[in-house]
Amino acid sequence: MAVYRRYIKKAPRLDTVPEDTLVFVWVFLLVLTGFMVKGYRIAVSEVSPTDWAMWSPLGYLVAKIFPTFDTGIKNEILVWHRALIHTIPAFIFLGYIWLIRSRLQHVLLSPLNVFFRSLKPKGALNPINLESTEIFGVSRIEHFTWKQLLDLDACTRCGRCQDACPAYFSGKALNPKKVIQDLKAHLQDVYPIPFVRQAIESRADMVTEVITEEVIWDCTTCRACQQACPIYIEHVDKIVDMRRSLVMERSQLPESAQQALQCLTAREHPWRGTTATRTDWAAGLGVKVLSEDSNIDVLYWVGCTAALEERNMKVSAATTKILQAAGINFGILGSEESCCGDPARRMGDEYLFQTLCQKNIELL
Ligand code: SF4
Ligand code: SF4
Repeated sequence: MAVYRRYIKKAPRLDTVPEDTLVFVWVFLLVLTGFMVKGYRIAVSEVSPTDWAMWSPLGYLVAKIFPTFDTGIKNEILVWHRALIHTIPAFIFLGYIWLIRSRLQHVLLSPLNVFFRSLKPKGALNPINLESTEIFGVSRIEHFTWKQLLDLDACTRCGRCQDACPAYFSGKALNPKKVIQDLKAHLQDVYPIPFVRQAIESRADMVTEVITEEVIWDCTTCRACQQACPIYIEHVDKIVDMRRSLVMERSQLPESAQQALQCLTAREHPWRGTTATRTDWAAGLGVKVLSEDSNIDVLYWVGCTAALEERNMKVSAATTKILQAAGINFGILGSEESCCGDPARRMGDEYLFQTLCQKNIELL
């Protein structure tokens, strides 16, 4: 089935390299020689056709065509052929997989990656301890955690993440499968000797050359790639970690992101062009504002987009009418509400995110 999909159907998300053909041929020969060894064993033990041998039809077939040598010769063949045509090639194959770091490593590493998958709520990003850290984000491969590096080696190159990515489909430079594969290739360049933690210092810059800035900024952090990945690889935290490095260590970010962050800093919302206030949408709806009347049961957190973006104001007005019709005693923070900080966080400015977060926590 794998051969059919890769060489006949040629699914676009599968990229086939010469190593794949070598692996297929090698596995085929190991399976074939496995049946031959099994056949020898059946022939030597001379089991009856009605016995368990029938449950190994290919091995049984080999046993039938195994020449009728003396038992001694059969035993010789069984010992030496098994070593020469099956056991030794199988061990060479295993050595090849781990020394060349073939993608077939995923047979072992993918289940491990599933076992160690993140159990955090979906979309939650790891915070940075701004008080103690000396590294903001990830600019070198060794800054990733062991689990993030395991992700790279475990990838099966199945391409499901590529098929799910809206940025890839809209023709952008980002391809989540390629991000993982490029980081994996970089990991192997930096640590060329398997199982030896000796890093090479002369290397390409990870956040501008290995993964370009364009790719890092193309991601919308929608998580469609992670949802599609059968082995729970996390693309978004790696991309956001690289953004954090660009933003917090190098101040390298696109103009649109820069303007949104400036707006967040100055006006506590990301909508640069708007002249609306946080309560314009509520005009005439009779919504309580906490600073004027704190006698409420439920706080309606409106958020920047629903309060300030013209198309979304209808949504907050409609939500208000539903709450009123349901008889819920609620209110809003109005001008005291500030951004929850999520846009800053997803753009890599963890410091601004934590500042906005803290302000909201203190207010509440
Ligand atoms: S999170 Fe980023 S990489 Fe993943 S599917 Fe969305 S846009 Fe693509
Ligand atoms: S879906 Fe997961 S395993 Fe498949 S190519 Fe993407 S990252 Fe690799």
